[in-house]
Amino acid sequence: MRGTRGGRLPPYPRVCPCRHCGLVVLHDNDGNWIHASLSYTCRDRWGGVAGTTAEPAAPGPADA
Ligand SMILES: [Zn+2]
Repeated sequence: MRGTRGGRLPPYPRVCPCRHCGLVVLHDNDGNWIHASLSYTCRDRWGGVAGTTAEPAAPGPADA
């Protein structure tokens, strides 16, 4: 379908990939980022704790 876009995009979409593990993250009731798996800590593909917490991927190219 064409012509259905045009809405203003917020700085962050409601959900976006975690910058650490790539899992989808979203806001919990307290405004903290949490993974869609309901875990605050990142986990690798094998289920190991990665030592980082849910954080949205930074928008724009200034992610260094
Ligand atoms: Zn993560």
